[in-house]
This record gives sequence, structure tokens and C-alpha cells, in this order.
Amino acid sequence: MREASVDAEIIVVGGGPAGASTAHALASSGHDVLVLDRARFPRDKVCAEYLSPQASRILALMGALEEIERSGPAHLAGMEVRAPNGRTVRGEFAAVRGFRPFRDRGLAIRRTVLDDILIRRAVAAGARLEEGTRISDVLRSADGKVTGVAGRDASGAARDFRARIVVGADGLRSVVGRRLGLVRAARWPKRIALVAHYRNVAGIGVMGEMHVDRDGYLGMVDVGGGVTNVAVVVPVSGAGRVVEGKAEFLEEWIAARPSIAERFVGAERIDAVRATGPFASAAKKAWAPGAALVGDAADFYDPFTGEGIYAALRGGELLAPFIAESLRPGAPAERALAAYDAARIEQFSGKWKVERLVGMAVAYPAMMNRMAGVLSRRKDMADLLVGVAGDFVPPRAVLNPKFLLTLFFSPVRA
Ligand SMILES: Cc1cc2nc3c(=O)[nH]c(=O)nc-3n(C[C@H](O)[C@H](O)[C@H](O)COP(=O)(O)OP(=O)(O)OC[C@H]3O[C@@H](n4cnc5c(N)ncnc54)[C@H](O)[C@@H]3O)c2cc1C
Repeated sequence: MREASVDAEIIVVGGGPAGASTAHALASSGHDVLVLDRARFPRDKVCAEYLSPQASRILALMGALEEIERSGPAHLAGMEVRAPNGRTVRGEFAAVRGFRPFRDRGLAIRRTVLDDILIRRAVAAGARLEEGTRISDVLRSADGKVTGVAGRDASGAARDFRARIVVGADGLRSVVGRRLGLVRAARWPKRIALVAHYRNVAGIGVMGEMHVDRDGYLGMVDVGGGVTNVAVVVPVSGAGRVVEGKAEFLEEWIAARPSIAERFVGAERIDAVRATGPFASAAKKAWAPGAALVGDAADFYDPFTGEGIYAALRGGELLAPFIAESLRPGAPAERALAAYDAARIEQFSGKWKVERLVGMAVAYPAMMNRMAGVLSRRKDMADLLVGVAGDFVPPRAVLNPKFLLTLFFSPVRA
């Protein structure tokens, strides 16, 4: 239900997975939603392009899963992590200790394909989409409540867009979050990523791969159609040479590690190397009067645990009923948005702790070697940890004294 004085009941800035999920849920329940994105779909996004098994539940709910399957994605059986000392851990997306994934496979799919399908599902549900529209500010009433956003439309003309509520789903460097003073850059870990696609990388199978070294890590995953996504993530402090050439940096990083380099002997890079970062950031609070943040705009996950897309999709699903409640005539709107924040913290805080734990291991090789030493002979523990990363095992299954004491204090053979 749109009022004459507004452009939409709800404006969603950003049509990535978080914006598409939010818009789909709200439009499906009869709300008038306008999505504004500076890009034109299909658009790309720097990403390792792997989705946890549980993401498929939301993709199915959005009516997107069949089309995704028809597009020829890869299906992942689990993750394989190689520690700096060469020890390898394999964890599978299998049912473990009574926890079952929505499917026993994760998906890996090009973002050009995935995000285009998702935003079209939101449009099919009734959301309107204005592409090529770059937002640069939020509009506020005299009492500070957000009443819309300002930017440039597809013709380049300056324009104000008014709504009863604004959702910032505009990704890592969210304009909405920054203008509202909600987002702060995290002090740690500060990493940058270089991503490219290759053909003919040897030995790529059904497991996503992570190769951790002393100065960063490399992820490799089949994304369908014989293409491998290759991502190198390094601390900002060690990335000075990136400015001299992204492709050179990526290729030298690979060439310096014989066990990885031998797999690239017959490989061909099929697109430009793209860089992004530093990318650690988090919102102090994911709402302000008249606005809420979702997806990367609210919280960014380190790519190692690969769950940003799930968190974006789940965040939209979580946020939508609170937005609807905040719009109900006579309802205390701010209480509904504060309740969203509490629900978001309850939903994700366990994962944030696990992410920090894994982030420490990636930063400290001795810790990663120890964890790999334990997990390589305790497949049940590796499956549990991969299940947490895969979003179907609750974080408490690994954030408990028994699991952590075994991980950090049980003897490890050299
Ligand atoms: C190197 C790297 C690897 C990753 N690998 C994985 C992985 O394997 N698996 C995984 O699940 N996650 C991964 N992630 C995280 C994942 O990419 C994000 O969590 C996910 O894209 C978040 O979705 P989103 O919708 O919040 O934001 P985005 O996907 O970034 O979408 C934001 C949208 O907002 C639009 N926008 C931005 N600013 C404006 C503006 N001012 N005006 C209008 N529109 C705007 C953009 O055009 C974009 O379409 C990775 C991230 C990085 C950096």
C-alpha cells in the first residue's frame, strides 16, 4: 500500500542476496517494495561463489532453486582444508550427530548468474527494481527519522526517493549504514582478496578447497561449466605489491607454492583478477528510526568460512516480518526494529564466535597446524565444524568445553 507522498512503502537499497531476499519476502506478503541498485543485472561481485547447504532452503522458498539447478552450478560434498604444515582436513556436509542439512550438498555458482536469478524472483513476487541508481545519502525528518534516500537515477539526474522505511542492503561499504553512523570498520582481521576464474585447474573435485599458508590462504572451488573460482586472501600488511599488479600478485602467490602451482600448469585464467578489501566491518546496531541494515551492510563474514550469502539470505528472511510489524498502523515501529536487532544477534552471534576462532587459526599457523592435526584424525569433529560453517549444525556443537579442549589440548602426532 503506497501513499501519495512516498515513492514506495519500503525502499531497499541494494539488490544483492540480502536485498533480493528482503524484497521477495516483503513483496510476497503484499507490501509495496522498491529496490534501488547502482548496478545493472546481471552484475558480478567479487566472491568465492560457494553457498552453504542450508542456503538452498531459502533459495527453494524464493522459488529460485530450480532455475539455479538448470543453470548448471557445481555441487559440493564438503570442504577440504590444508594447513601450513601440509596436513589436510576433510569435513563433509553429511548428517552428523543428528543434525541434517537441507541438502547434503553445497552449491557453487557464478554470482553473475545467482544474483540475477534472485533479484528476478523478488521482481516476480511484486517488487519494483530501478537499476543504475546510485544512492549517496539518507533523507531524514526534523526528528531524525529516516524518510528516504537521495542519489542519482539511471539518467544521472539527482533524485530523492521517499518511503516509510528504508532497508540498507547495499553491501560492505553501505552508504545507508555509514550515513546513519551505524557501521564501524573492525580492527581485525584486515585482509584483502584477489579473485579470478580459471579453466583446466588439475584435480578439482567435489570438495571446496582451502590452502592455508603463513601469509594468507587460497580457496579453490568448481563453480560449474569446467570453471574454477580461485581466491587468494592476504593480510593488508603483506599486500603492498598488489598495487603493482593484481594478476602478478595472484600468479606469484600460486607459483611460490609448489603443491598448488603444479595444479595450474595447464590452467588458463579466463578473466581479469579483481581485488577487494579490507573487508572486516560490523554494525554497532542494525537499525535507526525508519531504517534497518541487512546482509554485508550489517555484518561481514570473513570469506574463509564462506557464509556471507547464507547470512544475507537469512538476514532478509529474518528482517521482513519485523519491517511488516513496524509498518502496522499504531504499532511501536522502533520497538519492532530493535526486536529485529536482538533476533539478528541471537541468530548470528554463535557463528561470529566460530568465525573469530577460525580467523585466529588462519592468522596463526601453529594454531592451524594443531587444529588440523586433531581434526585430520577426528572426522566426526571435522564434520561438525564444517556443519557449523554449512549452517545446519548449531554453533554450540563446537563452542563447548569438550570440543574446544579436545581441539586445543589433545595430543597431536608430529
Ligand atoms: C573475497 C570474498 C569471497 C567471498 N566468498 C564467499 C563465499 O564463497 N560464500 C559466501 O557465502 N560468501 C562469500 N563472500 C561474502 C559474500 O560475497 C557477501 O556476504 C554477500 O555478497 C552479501 O550480500 P549482500 O546482498 O549483503 O551484498 P552484495 O552482494 O554486496 O550486494 C550489495 C548490492 O548493493 C548495491 N549497492 C552498493 N552500494 C550502493 C549504492 N550506493 N547505491 C545503490 N546500490 C548500491 C550493489 O551494486 C550490490 O548489488 C565473499 C566475500 C569476499 C569479499
